[in-house]
Amino acid sequence: MIRVGMGYDVHQLVPNRDLWMGGIKIEHELGLLGHSDADVLIHAICDAILGAANMRDIGYHFPDTSAETEGMDSKIILKKTIELIATKGYHLVNIDATICAERPKMNPHIPAMQQTMAQVIGCDVDAISIKATTTEKLGFTGRQEGISAYAVALIEKEP
Ligand SMILES: [Zn+2]
Repeated sequence: MIRVGMGYDVHQLVPNRDLWMGGIKIEHELGLLGHSDADVLIHAICDAILGAANMRDIGYHFPDTSAETEGMDSKIILKKTIELIATKGYHLVNIDATICAERPKMNPHIPAMQQTMAQVIGCDVDAISIKATTTEKLGFTGRQEGISAYAVALIEKEP
């Protein structure tokens, strides 16, 4: 049995924060604001995985009001998300995701993101596709006020 899920997330770009994306830290003069490390790509991916299993969203499992999740490394959220769907018998088949950011350039960092997330999930690097686009200077991402990410995930359970 296979099921698909989708995820979307946005975080604001602000000074004096690190920029975490796909589990790695990228050098940039701005970082993403959030209760956790604000890794917008991992958050969109986790929502896609949880959605595929019909297990609510990351806000439900990892509330932004809890002290436990404050400053949390989103790789932990990803690992726990995989453990959550495993309780219903599911494992990840593949992910396809898109980062929308005007700057910095994401493409040079994508192989490291794929490797990092594949290691956390325990899957093949080939199961994680990450793409990056600008929004042609339009909207909040174009004005560099924030970064958004979209993801779809396919999960599977043996009959
Ligand atoms: Zn988020």
